[in-house]
Amino acid sequence: MTPLTLHPDRLFPADPETRDIARRLYNGVKGLPIVSPHGHTDPAWFAANAPFANPSELLIVPDHYVFRMLYSQGVPLEALGIPTIDGSETAQDPRKIWHLFAAHYHLFRGTPSRLWLDWVFAEVFGLKARLSPETADLYYDTIDAALATDAFRPRALFERFGIEVIATTESPLDPLDHHRVIRDSGWSGRVVTAYRPDPVMDPEHPGFLDNLRRFGEVTGEDISTFAGYLRAHENRRAYFREAGATSTDHGHPSAFTADLPRAEIEALYAKVLSGLASPAEAELFRGHMLTEMARMSIEDGMVMQIHPGVHRSHNPGVMARFGRDKGADIPVPTGYVEALKPLLDRFGNERDLTIILFTLDETSYSRELAPLAGHYPALRLGPPWWFHDSPEGMRRFREQATETAGFYNTVGFNDDTRAFLSIPARHDVARRMDCGFLARLVAEHRLGEDEAHELARALAYDLVKAAYKL
Ligand SMILES: [Zn+2]
Repeated sequence: MTPLTLHPDRLFPADPETRDIARRLYNGVKGLPIVSPHGHTDPAWFAANAPFANPSELLIVPDHYVFRMLYSQGVPLEALGIPTIDGSETAQDPRKIWHLFAAHYHLFRGTPSRLWLDWVFAEVFGLKARLSPETADLYYDTIDAALATDAFRPRALFERFGIEVIATTESPLDPLDHHRVIRDSGWSGRVVTAYRPDPVMDPEHPGFLDNLRRFGEVTGEDISTFAGYLRAHENRRAYFREAGATSTDHGHPSAFTADLPRAEIEALYAKVLSGLASPAEAELFRGHMLTEMARMSIEDGMVMQIHPGVHRSHNPGVMARFGRDKGADIPVPTGYVEALKPLLDRFGNERDLTIILFTLDETSYSRELAPLAGHYPALRLGPPWWFHDSPEGMRRFREQATETAGFYNTVGFNDDTRAFLSIPARHDVARRMDCGFLARLVAEHRLGEDEAHELARALAYDLVKAAYKL
C-alpha cells in the first residue's frame, strides 16, 4: 500500500525563500472560519441532519466533476449509479460503484478533484493509504462506518469544518421550507439561501411557462402583465431576504444586458408569455431582466452574481437519458464590454450596488474584466469559477487581474460546490495559492510582508464578508 500524505508545503512555491514567506502568510490564515457565500449544498442535509447514505452516494453519484472524468474514459454512467430520467436500471450496489471508482482513481492525477478527494480521505476520514483497487474495500468500510456515527452527520461536519456561514441556491418557486426548519431548530449553524431566478426569467428554461404560472401562484401576483411580473420578483426577493438571502445569482448563456423602453419590454413580455419568443427574443428578455434585477438590488440591497458563458448539456444523448448537470457543460467565449454596457450605462456608477462577475473565458480577465472592475464602482470580480477553481486557474486569475483591478475589486473565494465534504479542501487550496502569489510579490520586493499578511486575511475572509454583506 502506498501511504496517503498531504504535504504541509503543498501548492507553495518551490523556491525555498518564497516558500518560507508563503508558509508564514498561510499560518496567519489557515485557521480562519470558512465563509461560503455561493454554492449548491442541499439545505435538506442541515434541516434533517440525517446520516449520509454510503460512500458512493456521498462522493460519486452527485459529483459531476468525478463521473465526467470516468465517462470520458469509457465508463458508462449507468455503471456509476447515475439515475436515469425514465427510471430504467442503473448500478445499485454502492460497493461495486466504489470499486469502479477506485480502479480509475489514477485518472484524477494532476486535477483539483484529486487534491480535494485526498484531503477528504486523509483529513475527514483519517485514511492513511492511497486509494487504489487494493485499498478500495478498506476505504469503503472505513467511510461507511464513519458515516453511521453522529460525528459525521451534516451539522457536526459543518461545525468541525469551521463554517461560519454557507449560502445555498434556490429557485423562486422553492418554498424555502428547509431553511425555515434550520432556523426554527435552534441550531447555531448559519445557512442562508440565494435567489436564482433563471427558471422564471429564462424563456428557454425547461418548463418555463409552467414555472411562470406557479410564480404567479406563490407570490399572489397577476403575472399576465409585465408590471405584475416585476411585482412577483419584488415580492419573492423579499421572501428570500427573510430567509437570510443577501444575493441573487444569474446563470445566463451570455453576459448580454439590455435596457428597453417600457412599451417594448411590455410587448416582448407578451410574446414571451405566449410561448412564441424566438431565441433572439429570449436573449433580449433575459438581458433586460438583468437590468431590472440591478434596479431591484439597489432598492433591496441584494448583491448580484452573474455566471455567464456555459453551453449547458452539450451532449444530447446524455441529456435525454440522464438530464441536466451531468458533466456535459462546456464553456463558450464570453464578452463583457459591449454586453454589459446597457446595464452599466444605467447603474454602473452606483456605489451601493455590487455586481459580481464570473467567467469561464479566461481570455477576458486582463482584456475586459479587470479593466471593467478597475473602473465601475458597481463591479467586482468573482473568484476563478468551475473549471478554473484549481491551483493553475487561481494563479492565472491573480496574475492577469491584479495589476489592473487590484485585490480589493475581488471578493475572496467561493467554493460553488454541492460536494459538501470537499468545502474545507477547496478553501484551503485558495488560501495556499493566494499566499503563494503574495509571497512572490514580497520576495520580488513589490509588497511589504506586513501588507501581504493583511491581504492574505482579506482574500480569505474580510473581502467575502464585505462583498456579500454576510
Ligand atoms: Zn453556482
